[in-house]
Amino acid sequence: MERYFQEEIETASVDQIKAMQKEKLIKQVAYVYKNNEYYRKKMQEKGVEPGDIKELEDISKLPFLSKSDLREAYPYGLLSAPLKDCVRIHSTSGTTGRRVVAFYTQHDLDLWEECCARAIVAAGGTAEDVVQVAYGYGLFTGGAGIHGGSHKVGCLTLPMSSGSTERQIQFMRDLNATILACTPSYAAYIGEKLHDMGLTPDDIRLKAGIFGAEPWTEEMRQNIERNLGIKAYDIYGLTEISGPGVAFECSSQTGMHINEDHFLAEIIDPDTGEVLPEGSVGELVFTSLDKEAFPLLRYRTRDLTVIRHEKCSCGRTHIKMKKPMGRSDDMLIIRGVNVFPSQIETVLLKEGYTPNYQIMVDRIDNEDTFDINVELSDEMFVKIHSNGGDDTDEKKNLTAAFKTMLGIRPKVHLLAPKSITRSEGKAVRVVDKRKLHD
Ligand code: ADP
Ligand code: ZN
Repeated sequence: MERYFQEEIETASVDQIKAMQKEKLIKQVAYVYKNNEYYRKKMQEKGVEPGDIKELEDISKLPFLSKSDLREAYPYGLLSAPLKDCVRIHSTSGTTGRRVVAFYTQHDLDLWEECCARAIVAAGGTAEDVVQVAYGYGLFTGGAGIHGGSHKVGCLTLPMSSGSTERQIQFMRDLNATILACTPSYAAYIGEKLHDMGLTPDDIRLKAGIFGAEPWTEEMRQNIERNLGIKAYDIYGLTEISGPGVAFECSSQTGMHINEDHFLAEIIDPDTGEVLPEGSVGELVFTSLDKEAFPLLRYRTRDLTVIRHEKCSCGRTHIKMKKPMGRSDDMLIIRGVNVFPSQIETVLLKEGYTPNYQIMVDRIDNEDTFDINVELSDEMFVKIHSNGGDDTDEKKNLTAAFKTMLGIRPKVHLLAPKSITRSEGKAVRVVDKRKLHD
C-alpha cells in the first residue's frame, strides 16, 4: 500500500489544489509587494498591482525574476521578512557563476523539510529506516534539506556529509543504512568503491537512494541501481526556491511530482518569455506560494523540462515534471549543434563504458574543437592491453555512436580506468575554453 507523508494534500483533487493555489498566490503577491521594495519596483515598472491578480492565470501579468536579479539584489534586496525573524541562510553551489543567498524563517524551514519528508516517504522511508545523508552539509542545501526531512519522518539520520568514501561504506555497513541520499555522480562513485573493496550489494542493507542536485540519465539510474542493489529515486530543487524537495519521484519513476501546494510551476519559451501550454518543453518558472523570508515570484530556473498533469499509479495528484536534462546554460553549442552532457552519458553507458568522462571544447582558428575523455572499464582495458594497446576499434565504434546521437563527431580519447577525478558533489563534466577567448 502506498504511504504518504501528508496524504490529504498529496492526493487532493486537481480542483482543490488549484483553489488553494489561487488563494495563496493572491496573498503571496500582496505580501511581497508590501514587504519587498525590489520586486514592488519591478511590478510598478510593468504597471501591475496586487489587485490585478485575481485568478491563477493572472500570474502571467507579473514580471519575471532571474539569477541576475538575485545577484543584483545580493545579499538582502530580495528579503521580504525582517532579518530578526530569519533563522538560516543557504547559498547556491555557484555552478554557473557568482553564488546567490537565500534566507529562511522557521516556517520556511518547516515547509522545506516537509517537502523533503514527502520525498523520503515516497521512496519507501518510514521511522524504521536509517538515512545516510551523503550530500554536502554547509551552505549547500542538499545536506540540510534531506537531514531535516529525515527527522520529520522519524528516520534514524546519519549526517555523513560527502567525501571519505571508504568511511561512508564502513558506516553504511556498521549502522545498517537503508536509504542513501547524495548526488547521482557520488552514488555512482560509492557503487564503484564498494566493488573495489571486494564487496557486493549483498554486503549492505540499502534499499533505496534519493539522488538529485544535478542532471542524470535513465542509463545512470540503471547503473546505480545495479551497483548498489537499490531502487534509485530522483529529487529536484534549487536554493532560490528552498532546496531539494521542490519535486520528487514516486514509485512509478516516471517523473517528479512538484509540491504544488507550495510552488506554482509554469513552462515558458526561454526566448520570448511566453507561457507555453501544458506538455511543451520549455524553461521551468516557479512562484513560491507561502514563504516568508525569501518568496520569489516567477523565478526563471533556466532548467529545461516538461510538466504535465497525469493520473499516477502512486495516487499522488500533483503535477509531474520530467527529469530536467540540463539547464539552458549547460547546453553547449558546438559547431552550431546543441549538445547536452547528458547525451554523452547516455551513449557511454549504452556502449558499456563507465559514467566517468570529461568534455573539452575550444576554438582554434575560428573552428570549434570537441574532445571527449572517456575512461575504459577494467575489462576493456585488459582486452586492449593484451591486443598490444591497439584501441582503434573501440574508438571508431564510440565515435560513431556519438555521431549518431549528436550529429557531430567528437575526438575520443580512451583513458585508463580511474584516471578521471570522481565527484563527491556535483560533477564537473565540461571544460569550455572558448569562454576564455571571448
Ligand atoms: P547552482 O545553481 O549553483 O547549482 P543549486 O545547488 O541550488 O545551485 O542547484 C540547483 C540546480 O541544480 C537546479 O536549478 C538544476 O539545474 C539542478 N538540479 C537539481 N536537482 C536536479 C535533478 N534532480 N535533475 C537535474 N538537475 C537538477
Ligand atoms: Zn506518482
